[in-house]
Amino acid sequence: SDSRSIPIHDDRDKLIDGLLASGFDEASCTSRFQSHLFRKASPHKPSQYLVSKLRHYEELHRKCGPNSRAYRKSMKVLHSKKKGAPGICKYLVWTPANGLGNRMISLAAAFLYAIFADRVLLVRFRDDMQGLFCEPFLNSTWLLPKHSPFWSEHHVETYRTMLKKDKASHSKRAVPSTLFLNLQHSQDDPEKFFHCDHNQDLLRNITSLILRSDQYFVPYLFMNPSFNSEIDKMFPEKDAIFHHLVRYLFHPSNEAWGLISRFYKTYLASADERIGLQIRVFSPTTTPTQAVMDLVLNCTLSNKVLPQLDTQKSVYYSQNQTVKAVLVASLYPEYGENLRAMYLNKPSVSGELIGVYQPSHEEEQKFHDNMHNFKAWTEMYLLSLSDVLVTTSLSTFGYVAQGLGGLKPWLLYKLTSNDTYFPACVRDFSIEPCNHIPPQHFCNGKPIKDFASSFPYLRKCLDFYAGVKLA
Ligand code: GDP
Repeated sequence: SDSRSIPIHDDRDKLIDGLLASGFDEASCTSRFQSHLFRKASPHKPSQYLVSKLRHYEELHRKCGPNSRAYRKSMKVLHSKKKGAPGICKYLVWTPANGLGNRMISLAAAFLYAIFADRVLLVRFRDDMQGLFCEPFLNSTWLLPKHSPFWSEHHVETYRTMLKKDKASHSKRAVPSTLFLNLQHSQDDPEKFFHCDHNQDLLRNITSLILRSDQYFVPYLFMNPSFNSEIDKMFPEKDAIFHHLVRYLFHPSNEAWGLISRFYKTYLASADERIGLQIRVFSPTTTPTQAVMDLVLNCTLSNKVLPQLDTQKSVYYSQNQTVKAVLVASLYPEYGENLRAMYLNKPSVSGELIGVYQPSHEEEQKFHDNMHNFKAWTEMYLLSLSDVLVTTSLSTFGYVAQGLGGLKPWLLYKLTSNDTYFPACVRDFSIEPCNHIPPQHFCNGKPIKDFASSFPYLRKCLDFYAGVKLA
């Protein structure tokens, strides 16, 4: 029988060493109580200090979150347009940008920033984000209420104009009660210096920040010494920050958990080893399928993630053949189909049997589509249940899977043409996501020449030349 399906009621496992709060209703979020049965215990334990900060945050969220008296009071003050010092409750409203992977990494970063800034995190989930996740905070909600003024940022002062005004005036001026903070990158946009003390001081007195970002901006916090002592105590292991954040925040809803757990039990649970293969093709029209297939095979065969084919024999004689299950996540059906046919048509030299399963093939990235996001979430989660993970460079979809699973992936080159690359992939040195657009200057304006020698925990990413990540 499969030992993974026998429920073991150990609260330490269930609550991931105190990372998760006890007291949730099991039926409303089954995954919260069952996910530990689907993966090996993580070697990365949350620090006691992190656990206490999370419990403290939950308290704040309960006190200031929607449905609380303090929330109603704060909203009344906002409506009255009276300016002044912020009340006891301050808010950070997260808004989505780009695909689900981008959204989840930026939301995780926003949560950590909310903890540092004593802000209550509210999420602006429209129809396409409905029902993917359980509520993360005990006895409260993180969903932005329907009638909140924060559903739009029209008529809200922007961070950019605030900085301009700040530069122009030398005297103190009244700060707005709500500010739109766009941390997304564009060509014509100057650096934001968001993490620098002066800018943090400006933001501190604003009651509500509406944030847009598609990046994991936690590395920024490591570029300002003011954050260091807190962050150090919370996260002694710098390459497990995202791992803790995503396991804390993102629990599949019962509907998503049904999709994930049925697929897992049907195709993956009984295998001797599980391999996740994420094949993200960024420019499908200019990248031939065969070039991608060659890259995937070069990577997996040469690193012994998958066995070579035996072209001499047509049968393999052995009593106990082990089975590897390969989960393929891709927008295109060809990759799963090719790989499956390959291992069914010929034996492998090791005698291993290779089962290939691809849950969906959506053909293209879709927007404003709830079911599409359910599929993406299902596949990120299934990838995270792998023993060995292969992801595509630059893909935030892959970052979420590696973070949930606590896995250092093999990084496939990002192909945009027919080129061949050797090696086809490299093993990443950390499970953290790469930040693709780090600041180019220190807070004092001097250019940053080298991240690794300037900041102890930051390294250049392997998957994107301009990116940095924690290690
Ligand atoms: P990134 O663009 O690779 O960084 O990842 P994002 O998740 O931000 O955006 C890509 C979006 O395209 C995903 O959220 C999905 O909607 C879709 N997508 C890309 N690859 C896959 C895949 O392998 N499976 C599924 N179901 N959807 C995918």
